[in-house]
Amino acid sequence: MPMRFDILTLFPDMVERILGESIIGRAQKSGAITVAAHNIRDYSTDKHHRVDDTPYGGGRGMLMAAPPVYDCHAAVCAIADQSLGKDLAPRRRTIYLSPKGRVLTQDYAKSLLSYDHLILLCGHYEGIDQRVLDEIVDEEISIGDYVLTGGELPACVLVDCIARMVDGVLPEAVCYESESIACGLLEYPQYTRPAVFHGVPVPEVLLSGHHEKIDAWRLARARELTEQLRPDLLELVESPANTKKGR
Ligand code: SAM
Repeated sequence: MPMRFDILTLFPDMVERILGESIIGRAQKSGAITVAAHNIRDYSTDKHHRVDDTPYGGGRGMLMAAPPVYDCHAAVCAIADQSLGKDLAPRRRTIYLSPKGRVLTQDYAKSLLSYDHLILLCGHYEGIDQRVLDEIVDEEISIGDYVLTGGELPACVLVDCIARMVDGVLPEAVCYESESIACGLLEYPQYTRPAVFHGVPVPEVLLSGHHEKIDAWRLARARELTEQLRPDLLELVESPANTKKGR
């Protein structure tokens, strides 16, 4: 069964445009993953399809109201269960993208591969009424310590980060396992044709065809770069408790 992502948002076109392109777009076409965006506004019972209101107690801005968010979530759970002919609840996780959440890392994204169905809830304006979050959300995830206008870009970041680790999305697992962060270091610099660009030649060892020497050169550059830019990663790799292999 392909991993399924349902995104609840006020701006479905935004996420469909982003996730419909390139590798993640092709992964949807090939059936490796399923992605669907749902407009929370479609579940508003207000005659003007309003989904936001002023916060109780006063304060600036508008808040997304609980009823359309709850109804959209319930409908999406029912659609997913029906289309797969089974109750996905035990392997489903509802995530609210929020600056208050656990900050996303590569390892944490990998752990989410254990679910078959991720529902990603995007807030907007000042956020969402707490009561519906308490009722439907399993966890909150932040994509970093800064605040954006909405959860759509964070949801796309999360889908992209997880989906490229789903079988069949990239040609082989080594494609993501050997990259910066995932391998424990920052990646070595890479070069392609032409052999000389603006007078700067490609490092000679890369033209030698000597694979052991090339591997040694790459490892040395990766360590050097990590020491320079992210010494914290190097400390982790070198700690005896670290189980990451290869470097
Ligand atoms: N009032 C909220 C607060 O202070 O925590 C911020 C609301 S923010 C302007 C609007 C929406 O953008 C949030 O509901 C959330 O879905 C999304 N968002 C903003 N920054 C985010 C981040 N760093 N990670 C994940 N989602 C974020």
